[in-house]
Amino acid sequence: MERVKDNIYVETEYLGCNPSFVVTSSGIVMIDAPGLRLADALAWKKEIAKFGEVAYIINTDHHGDHALGNYFFSGDLIQHEGTMKKLMADDRVEAARKYMRMFDPAYEPVVEHYFVKRPRFTYHDRMGFYFGGEAFELIHISGHTEDETLVYMPGKKVLFSGDNVCTIGIPNLSESFPLEWLKALDFVETLEIDVLVPGHGKIGNKDSTREFRSQFESLMGEVKEKIDQGWGRDRIVEEVRYEDNIHHGYPPSTMERFQQVMKQGIGRLHDALIGQR
Ligand SMILES: [Zn+2]
Repeated sequence: MERVKDNIYVETEYLGCNPSFVVTSSGIVMIDAPGLRLADALAWKKEIAKFGEVAYIINTDHHGDHALGNYFFSGDLIQHEGTMKKLMADDRVEAARKYMRMFDPAYEPVVEHYFVKRPRFTYHDRMGFYFGGEAFELIHISGHTEDETLVYMPGKKVLFSGDNVCTIGIPNLSESFPLEWLKALDFVETLEIDVLVPGHGKIGNKDSTREFRSQFESLMGEVKEKIDQGWGRDRIVEEVRYEDNIHHGYPPSTMERFQQVMKQGIGRLHDALIGQR
């Protein structure tokens, strides 16, 4: 765990996202929850307990690596309404259980009891709140998924970017909106940032967004080149690849899934580039 500024802590070594928390005078505000390995969820719970009780948990998107672990923590959930809709969908509990079994056999005793926690608050476009002397701004901005939340602390100049900015390469693109994502990066660059906590990868700063953009644009450029050369969608999806550092270290049982995810992601880039998304 790293203390990235004053009262703000982040873990970048767990399997999955970079869970974070802010210690305030009224309690803890968590950003994302670890949940791909039971040991990580339990270790994080223990770590946080040293600083106080969890008051709120904000999820930056609905994916398992950010939200599956909500179950293990007390505190009220705050989510974008799109995140809530995806997580509260009828098939979600079964999907989560399948995911847990795929990731970590240690989950087995927990799986049957697992349920998806309903958020206490949802928001549409933006939401600001003050809690325990700290100001939080939640900003909805589509990109990596359509329900991304940026969590910005203006007083601290700290941004929790979710997977819209990663410092370890390109994240899952399979539910992305690539053109909106580029606009999201434009927006992030307008914020005053000392510390950028990415969805995945080492702690970043003001320059991280520009660095991420150049990787993202170069992959888009590659897909564009193939389209210009007359390659069809199927061939592009089968043959264009990028280095997947995000899912590095995931159990072998998940590899097939993430190969599929990469193909879907390349398909999203293709569709955006030919104007179909
Ligand atoms: Zn993620």
